[in-house]
Amino acid sequence: MRLLSCASAALALAATSLSAQPVADRYRADANRIIDAALSDSVAWNRLAEMTETYGARFSGTAALERAIDWMLAKMKEDGLQNVRGEPVMVPAWVRGSESAQLLLPRPTNLPMLGLGGSIATPPGGITADVIVVSSFSDLTSKAARAAGKIVLYDVPFTSYGETVQYRGRGAIEAAKVGAVAALVRSVTPYSMRTPHTGGMAYDSTVRRIPAAAITVEDAQMIHRMQDRGERVRVKLMMSAKYNPDSRSRNVVAEIVGSEKPDEIVVFGGHIDSWDVGRGAMDDGGGVVVAWDALRVLQRLGLKPKRTIRVVGWTNEENGGRGGQGYRDAHRAAVDKHVLAIESDGGVFKPLGFGFTGSDSAFEIVKQIGTLLERIGSGAITRGGGGADIGPIMALGVPGMGLTVDGTRYFWYHHTDADTIDKLDPREMALCVATMAVMAFIVADLPDPLPRAAPAR
Ligand SMILES: [Zn+2]
Repeated sequence: MRLLSCASAALALAATSLSAQPVADRYRADANRIIDAALSDSVAWNRLAEMTETYGARFSGTAALERAIDWMLAKMKEDGLQNVRGEPVMVPAWVRGSESAQLLLPRPTNLPMLGLGGSIATPPGGITADVIVVSSFSDLTSKAARAAGKIVLYDVPFTSYGETVQYRGRGAIEAAKVGAVAALVRSVTPYSMRTPHTGGMAYDSTVRRIPAAAITVEDAQMIHRMQDRGERVRVKLMMSAKYNPDSRSRNVVAEIVGSEKPDEIVVFGGHIDSWDVGRGAMDDGGGVVVAWDALRVLQRLGLKPKRTIRVVGWTNEENGGRGGQGYRDAHRAAVDKHVLAIESDGGVFKPLGFGFTGSDSAFEIVKQIGTLLERIGSGAITRGGGGADIGPIMALGVPGMGLTVDGTRYFWYHHTDADTIDKLDPREMALCVATMAVMAFIVADLPDPLPRAAPAR
């Protein structure tokens, strides 16, 4: 066994060095030109500032989102990009309406809150009930006998987004199962300045629907301590959220058409929509503007890859994912012509590299492209990556990549009123542009498409 693995490691090393040199060598000059051009201005940051400050939040179902899309399409045409278009997608139109949470006992005070996206309203007079605080779903199970008729508050400290977000996602379902009348969740964040964080939530058709909202970390902890002191905690929750009929939106699309294989595509982008709070600068205006600006830089340099590079601003990622699904459906016949899909939806802070999902041989190639990004510190290509908007085409076999960045501060502002342009640095954003442009250009220009994994049998 040991001998065998040594031998195969040596073979893999030989294969790597044979194919590695050509890719890195062939594209080093282009990569350096792209990086230098991307770092020579702050167009991306300035455009993101203009978009987020002119149109504000870009929530699905709002005129602001559609006006921002119109603005972007017009600017893309000014840039001289090709096949600029909006591809129609119907999106849900959830409306928050007026909402509030008040602590009545033991001390009357207002609790800053945000209803969770998709929540139902309370009755017009609100819901007034005692609160029971739990630290986990298993804690809820152990207190189930005492939860009926109460508002369940999940006071769960942030560990990772993926782990902690489940309380936002299915907190209402689990609370309703034990007879609760509403669910409150501690905002999903590692750091708080008493700012509530909204986000998506789910209902289960087999379980009664109850309203759900986020309160701040500070207030969740306070209420937890009140309970620990044996104090009776009573809250009045008022929410008037509702769904309007689905609304027309668009995926924003622009291209540089390939010179030799125009029907083969590298698609990259982020989502154009945001939550209805803040201005969606980090999440995900930055992602979509970085991809757009990467295309502008390539266009300005006159770099024409063999394959088509397509930027997409997917609509409705936040509360429906209809843009990513709509893209898959509109391009289903061409899915096998998609060589790679790249998404940026983790903020555009200092870029580190990409997470990649695809075949081992493709991974070796993109790692070699990564070496050309080492001079700006963004050459780390790791296993596993993608994104919500490219997920639907990745599920059909398209190799996928997610831009990885220093995410230290991302969840501080995520889905809050504080998601504004000042959180992003022009230089870091330009580094993201360079990173996205180098990867997309080289993959689009390689002699052969990235090898796909053998289909699962
Ligand atoms: Zn996002």
